[in-house]
Amino acid sequence: MKAAVIGSGFGGLALALRLQANGIQTTLFEARDKPGGRAYVYEDKGYVFDAGPTVITDPSCIEEVFAEAGRKLSDYVELMPVSPFYRLLWQDGTSFDYVNDQAALERQIAALNPADVAGYREFLRYSEELFEEGYVKLGSVPFLSFQAMMRAAPQLVKLKSWRSVYGMVSRFIKDEHLRQAFSFHALLVGGNPFHASSIYALIHALERKWGVFFPRGGTGALVAGMVRLFDELGGVVRLSCPIEKITTIGDRATGVIADGIEESFDLVATNADVMHSYGKLLGHHKRGRAEHRRLSDKRFSMSLFVIYFGVRKTYPGLQHHTILFGPRYRELIAEIFAGEALPDDFSLYLHAPTVTDPALAPDGCTAFYVLSPVPHLGSAPLDWSVEGPRYRDRILGALETQLLPGLRENLETCRIFTPDDFQSQLNSHLGSAFSLEPILTQSAWFRPHNRDDVIPNLYFVGAGTHPGAGLPGVIGSAKATAGVILADLAARRAA
Ligand SMILES: Cc1cc2nc3c(=O)[nH]c(=O)nc-3n(C[C@H](O)[C@H](O)[C@H](O)COP(=O)(O)OP(=O)(O)OC[C@H]3O[C@@H](n4cnc5c(N)ncnc54)[C@H](O)[C@@H]3O)c2cc1C
Repeated sequence: MKAAVIGSGFGGLALALRLQANGIQTTLFEARDKPGGRAYVYEDKGYVFDAGPTVITDPSCIEEVFAEAGRKLSDYVELMPVSPFYRLLWQDGTSFDYVNDQAALERQIAALNPADVAGYREFLRYSEELFEEGYVKLGSVPFLSFQAMMRAAPQLVKLKSWRSVYGMVSRFIKDEHLRQAFSFHALLVGGNPFHASSIYALIHALERKWGVFFPRGGTGALVAGMVRLFDELGGVVRLSCPIEKITTIGDRATGVIADGIEESFDLVATNADVMHSYGKLLGHHKRGRAEHRRLSDKRFSMSLFVIYFGVRKTYPGLQHHTILFGPRYRELIAEIFAGEALPDDFSLYLHAPTVTDPALAPDGCTAFYVLSPVPHLGSAPLDWSVEGPRYRDRILGALETQLLPGLRENLETCRIFTPDDFQSQLNSHLGSAFSLEPILTQSAWFRPHNRDDVIPNLYFVGAGTHPGAGLPGVIGSAKATAGVILADLAARRAA
């Protein structure tokens, strides 16, 4: 039995590992020269920059992938706890350390609004309930049929999942800083806190349950650990190998074409963008064209503008993860998700991995990335070759004024990644950073399914399928997809 997995993002890697661990000879095809997808790694002048995910939550879902192969994650990579999870900074000087310590959290909440302490406790209980129902019970269940969706409907109604994250947080908490502090998480999975289903408020309980981690050596070390295990199990990784086509006979996938050469496989799973997979890889089949057309009416999450930079300087007191809220929240987010232009103001996430692992930069230096959520190319078709350097300079200027004095005169290396790069380097539809937007009508059964409805040996894994973006999401999708594949093979053997 031979499987092809197209794309080595965390979803593709986790699926390939699960298949290989279950005795299916698996080849992982990656278009870029390194594995990891959005978790690509840049290195320059002794600095190591993780390109994408940096907030590692729910280590148990990663441990489970290693356990499936009879191995221990800790033998491959060390996950170091990070505290505070985030330092939140507002323009009015308010600062909030988001920690995993109830007393410290309540002290800070009381300083902003004493009445919100009780509200926060209620919110935490609500978030924990969401976590049980939405993540533990449904997070890695494949929603292949409408009946599966209907079975989950009572839970979704009970948890008021038609409401937004911000709407639910606001029912419990009155202070605007705190409302932002407990609702911004939707952005981490590509959701608008004012539109994303309140189910995503479960991220708070998920972070409180396990904590936030960072791999020693960076997220790239986690990718490398997974690739090493895959290799040890006998899996094959083909880098710099963009798939051009998924071949079919009738309604069955028969293999893939790379570099003009066709290879046969018993099943094909794609971790590439869903629009790219249906529109390009399966564009020759009527199913591919129809699904591409249907999905093009969906809402896609915003894009990101990212600057990776190294500074010949250290900043005592700096935290690993800092969120700098801009002067506007609701209005800015509305413009990021639907605006036709680049907003003048921005909210930033600043990543300083050398706070936890100094080996990621030369001695006395600091590695950073800063990201700003921006509209995707479908709503604001900007010329990023012009806008990018200007936007970079504005952001670095703001960081220097607000948090990092002397930044620009000590800048040693700097590169940007724009919505154009998401589109051209990752085949991401409209340059979206997180695929389909996580709103209720695009979640669970309403999301592209883990197995295609028409081609029974074509599977999907990663941010575009259930449950969605973020590491726990895509690793959960790999569990769901592997489960469907193994059940399909067992059914075929029994027939
Ligand atoms: C800047 C940034 C920061 C983030 N921070 C966090 C965070 O802190 N925590 C968190 O949990 N999540 C975070 N996320 C979200 C998370 O990184 C993603 O949701 C997740 O990594 C996506 O994984 P995936 O499995 O969908 O695959 P992707 O990472 O999207 O990888 C898909 C792969 O498919 C390959 N591919 C595409 N087309 C082809 C083809 N034709 N042939 C072969 N290969 C192809 C691509 O090159 C790519 O390698 C972040 C995302 C970004 C962009």
